Amino acid sequence: MREAWRNNAGWRPAWREPSLKAYYDVVIIGGGGHGLATAYYLAKNHGVTNVAVIEKGWIGGGNTGRNTTVVRSDYLFPESAALYDLALRLYESASEDLNFNIMLSQRGYMTLIHNHHQLESARHKVNWMACNGVEGEIIDRDEVGRMVPLLNMSESARNPVLGAFLQRRGGTIRHDAVAWGYARAASDLGVDIVQNCEVLGLEKTNNRITSIVTSKGSVSCGTVGMAVAGHSSVIAQMAGFRLPVTSHCLQAMVSEPVRAIHHHMVLSPATGVYINQTQKGELVMGSVLDLYTSYGQRGTFCTIEKTITSVVEMFPVFAQLRLMRHWAGIVDVVPDSSPILGPTPVENLHINCGWGTGGFKAIPAGGTILAHSLATGIPHPLGQKFGLDRFRSNRLVDEGAASGIAH
Ligand SMILES: Cc1cc2nc3c(=O)[nH]c(=O)nc-3n(C[C@H](O)[C@H](O)[C@H](O)COP(=O)(O)OP(=O)(O)OC[C@H]3O[C@@H](n4cnc5c(N)ncnc54)[C@H](O)[C@@H]3O)c2cc1C
Repeated sequence: MREAWRNNAGWRPAWREPSLKAYYDVVIIGGGGHGLATAYYLAKNHGVTNVAVIEKGWIGGGNTGRNTTVVRSDYLFPESAALYDLALRLYESASEDLNFNIMLSQRGYMTLIHNHHQLESARHKVNWMACNGVEGEIIDRDEVGRMVPLLNMSESARNPVLGAFLQRRGGTIRHDAVAWGYARAASDLGVDIVQNCEVLGLEKTNNRITSIVTSKGSVSCGTVGMAVAGHSSVIAQMAGFRLPVTSHCLQAMVSEPVRAIHHHMVLSPATGVYINQTQKGELVMGSVLDLYTSYGQRGTFCTIEKTITSVVEMFPVFAQLRLMRHWAGIVDVVPDSSPILGPTPVENLHINCGWGTGGFKAIPAGGTILAHSLATGIPHPLGQKFGLDRFRSNRLVDEGAASGIAH
């Protein structure tokens, strides 16, 4: 209120803008949600505060600030359920923990069921989730119609609706708030967040990174964490190893704002399209990857067309709205749609990547796990099944179905 009377001239910056020091115990490459959360949990859980987060652009300017903000924990395998449900539980208390309103809105996450095969799979998933201690349910066609009144419920629709899988704790969170909340809390604990600082090379001695070459000069380090999503292969190449990661554009778009007309998050597996409405009133829409590999943060028009036609098929009334904005991020896709967490072939380099189209929902868990790995040198118990070595031993954690959209 005081600032409102003072022309907003007295606000303190939310985090410090330090210059790069000559040495840090831990350097984290990538100032997205996972990098910032890692820095925060390093300081909070392990007392390691001589830490820098190095970001080539602005924090949250990668996928964290470009995603469609959906959170849920409806994964199949026990190791995934433990990971994603930890993330959701940490998000549920994050506003208090970070003293920053992340605008968690648990409005319910719904995957439509269009045929009997999908009904069978949904039953299978709900049972697995119950075994894993995560709640989820199937609702019938009438209930879907009541909850989503604008949905095309015609029996002659190309993809008729028989019911839906529903996770009531699922919903949305304001993405920028997650980046800013972790940044402010980490900065308050002594972490240096250095923006506009690109990592250009890594210097190694005896299979350890000793120095990081950046656009703001070189910095020596004890341990290095990387959380650079679609650029993971680029940094791995600098470190001298390869990752089973391909980088693709994933697009999203919003309509012009309208009053609150669509309360839940709804996904149609038939088309891969999903839609929710922001607190500002825009309808947020996303769907499939652009299937060629790319580092360009823009996508093709045919994906936009596919998304829009599918949205209009699901919600004919939305045809009246105008498309206001569209954008893309570069996501890190791995063969089993599960993250890669923990040690790498380079002794003091630890990794957090491979979240593909669904890593926003996992940020608190991804940060907790990478922080543990950096502080102790060994994988976190919840991260053990997600090590890079699984691609050699062929113990994949195939969450292709739970990743939500067709890869
Ligand atoms: C359109 C879209 C929709 C999505 N929707 C959802 C969703 O609804 N729910 C969900 O859970 N997930 C979603 N995702 C996925 C989610 O956004 C990502 O998995 C998650 O944000 C990854 O976070 P991150 O911190 O690993 O990566 P990022 O946020 O991308 O951060 C990585 C950072 O590394 C920096 N970097 C890269 N190279 C260098 C370098 N050489 N030097 C220094 N810094 C570097 C980048 O600039 C970037 O800021 C979506 C993604 C997109 C693109």
